[in-house]
This record gives sequence, C-alpha cells and structure tokens, in this order.
Amino acid sequence: MLAKDQTRLRIEKMEAERQQRRLRTKELRHTRAEEERRNISQGNPGDVDFIGLVRQWREEHSGVALRHEDSVSVTSGANANTASPAMVASDDKICVCVRKRSLNSKELAKLEHDAVTCLHPTATVHSAKVRVDGISKYCDHHTFKFDHAFDELSSTEDVYFYTAKPLVRYVCDGGNKGVIPRATVFAYGQTGSGKTYTMTGIQRMVAEDIFSTLSNNNIGSCYSLDNTTCSIAIFEIYGGRIQDLLNNRNRLKVLEDGKGEVIVSGLEEFQASTPQEFLSLIEQGQKNRTTHATEANDVSSRSHAICQILLRDKTNGKLRGKLSLVDLAGSERGNDTKEHNRQRRTESSEINTSLLALKECIRAIDSESKHVPYRQSKLTLILKDCFVSKAARTAMIATLSPGSNSTDHTVNTLRYADRIKEQKVGDTFAP
Ligand code: ADP
Ligand code: MG
Repeated sequence: MLAKDQTRLRIEKMEAERQQRRLRTKELRHTRAEEERRNISQGNPGDVDFIGLVRQWREEHSGVALRHEDSVSVTSGANANTASPAMVASDDKICVCVRKRSLNSKELAKLEHDAVTCLHPTATVHSAKVRVDGISKYCDHHTFKFDHAFDELSSTEDVYFYTAKPLVRYVCDGGNKGVIPRATVFAYGQTGSGKTYTMTGIQRMVAEDIFSTLSNNNIGSCYSLDNTTCSIAIFEIYGGRIQDLLNNRNRLKVLEDGKGEVIVSGLEEFQASTPQEFLSLIEQGQKNRTTHATEANDVSSRSHAICQILLRDKTNGKLRGKLSLVDLAGSERGNDTKEHNRQRRTESSEINTSLLALKECIRAIDSESKHVPYRQSKLTLILKDCFVSKAARTAMIATLSPGSNSTDHTVNTLRYADRIKEQKVGDTFAP
C-alpha cells in the first residue's frame, strides 16, 4: 500500500476515535450532572451554596470560552489528531499547560466539591470564602491563562499531542546543524494531583512515537534507526541523593567539569531497539521508585524522578538529541515547615529551593538571559544543558486537584506555572 494511503487511513481512524471521545464526553457530562442532582436530593450535597456559586460562574462564562477540544476544533477548523504536530507546535521555546483531574473518591467522601474550571486556555480556581458577618458566602475566582488548559474530560493523548509530541519530533530532527536539540517535559503539582499518572502515560506514548519517527524515513530531516541508537537512563533525586533507578539504586555523583559540562557519574544508560524494550525499561524504573515509596513515608512525593532518552550516533556514540521527562516532587511545602522532624524540614527546604531554581532557569530560556541560576540545586545543575543550550525547548504540565480543600495549593500551582511564562488574562472573559 502506498504511504499516502496509509496516512489517510490513519487520519480516518484518528478522526473516528476523536468522534467517539466527543460522544463519551457528552455522556460523561450528562452523568455528572445527574450525580450532582442525586447527591443533593439524598442530603449529601457537599456545600450547596458554594456548588451553586461555582455553577453560576460556569454558566456565566461557558459561552465566552470553551473546553480545549471544542475550542481547538473551532479555531483551527481541523481536529487536533488530524493536524500535524508541526501545525500545533508553536516556535515557542516554552509551552506551559495545565491539566485538571476529576474529583476522586477520597475527596467525594469528604464532601469536597469541584472548585476548578478549565476553559481553554484558562484555568480558574473558585476559592470558598465567608464574609466577616460569618454567614454570607462568596467565591474568589482566580483566573490564569496558559498555552493550553485541559479539563477533567481531556485524555492523556490530548495532553501528549500538544506538549511532548512536538518535542519528540524536535529531538529526532537532524536538520539543526551544529546544535544538539534538547527538550524537557516537566510535571509540576501538589501530591495526588496527577503528575505520575500524566507522566507515565506520556512515557508510553513517547515509546511508540520515537521509534515510529526514527523508522519513518519520510519525515523530513529526522534521524533514522539505521544510523542512530536510542537509550534510556532513569534516576531519582531524593534529599541530596541521586540514585540510579535502572541499576540497584546506586548512588550517583553530579560533577561539572572544567568545560562547564555536567556529568552524572556512574549513571547507566540502556539501549532500546523497540518500543517494547523501551517500555520494559520504563517499567523497571517505576518499580524501583514505588518499592522505595512504601519503605519510607511516601518518598515518591518527595523526590524528583528523571527519565532521559538519548539519541546517539551509531558509529561514534556522539549525542544527537536528548529528551528528559521529569516527574517533580510534590509542590506542597507550606505545611512541612511546621514539622518537628529535622530531616523532613531539610528535605522540604531542598524541594522548595529546587522548584524555585527550576522556575528561574526556565524563565531564563525565554529571556535568553545570561544569568541562569542552575547551580542553586542538584535538579537544575543536572538539567543545566536544558537551560543554557540555544536549542533547548521545554513543556511544563501543571497538574491540578479539583477538590475544594486544595484551592490554596491549586492557586499556588497556577501562580508558579504563570510565572514561568506570563500571559495576560487580559480580556479573555470580557463581555
Ligand atoms: P501525583 O503523582 O501528582 O502525586 P498521581 O499521578 O499518583 O499523583 O495521581 C493520584 C491518583 O489520581 C492516582 O490514583 C491516579 O491514578 C489518579 N489520577 C490522576 N490523574 C488522573 C486523571 N487525569 N484521570 C484519572 N485518574 C487520575
Ligand atoms: Mg507521583
């Protein structure tokens, strides 16, 4: 069959899948409204007043901005899957997006209500407030604007398509003579907001995508598996320690040599020749992370996990492209400062430091600033090449818990993401 026909078939298949997703979304919306009505009639309402205030805000604003899926198909006239990544990948070096998950059973059991609304490209947190009279309730609505805002009905495929997919294509591209393309995807957010869920899904999609890009010689100037190898390294930064998740949690050292090159010494790199081999390495890394998490008190929320995908010249091993996928430590640190445990306090302040340094380093990419404070933390030191290289691209995915008890953390997450690449909310919601 001709390559053209195959492409057409693939596009048709994706179109059909998207149609199905649309239908499912419609059904889900209906079910959700039913559930809400039933909860209220059974005397299990959460806070009816606040739910009413949020609903009212949504009714007033839903005509002005749309869900991600709807607004993309309206504005581009094409649907996201049929558009090529080149069409959706802007030339921006930084892409910042947010992803909200649904309320989970724990939050529902605590009678929390959904206090976050994503209307692409904005995210709004509805913070519940009571006036000084102690009786009248109102909501503070905090709205932020991003490159993309995915709501609870968006799939990981949708998120992938606009964040990591263009970067996979970018690092496989041999057309940039003299510069090695480097790209990083970060998941940032409070513990439980969906960082690992999103990153795990993205890793699976990268596995498929990177091999199909490298196997398909029709894609422009991309490298091919005939002359390029793909290998993976996975490690974790916990407290001040760096440990190899593909090699018995070996302690690693990070060094900066005389030429300013940062090396993680001892880090093992494993070659993968197929998506299956790639996936089994990823799974091994995940297993090593989770086992550890059950030993100490929720280590995974206090560590940064980094998965690096390295493309190298088959003959001389020289680096050709690098993609890093980073599942960051939980961003909720405020409460920890009250903890009496000294180790915990030290860990928390280290996480704070690294997340603050990270924000400044990413900001520096956009401004092409000479001062990149990458030495302020191990995390940023290790990722130095992702900030200082002229060929560096970044996608930041801020994950949001919708629960009404998390609104303070959620506003903080949005502020952090907002500072990375400020975009004016401007008159998005102007009448
Ligand atoms: P984090 O890594 O930020 O602490 P997780 O990714 O572990 O959070 O997510 C917490 C829980 O919520 C998990 O059980 C996960 O499966 C679920 N979850 C997170 N995001 C989503 C989502 N978008 N859709 C469905 N379930 C989700
Ligand atoms: Mg996690």
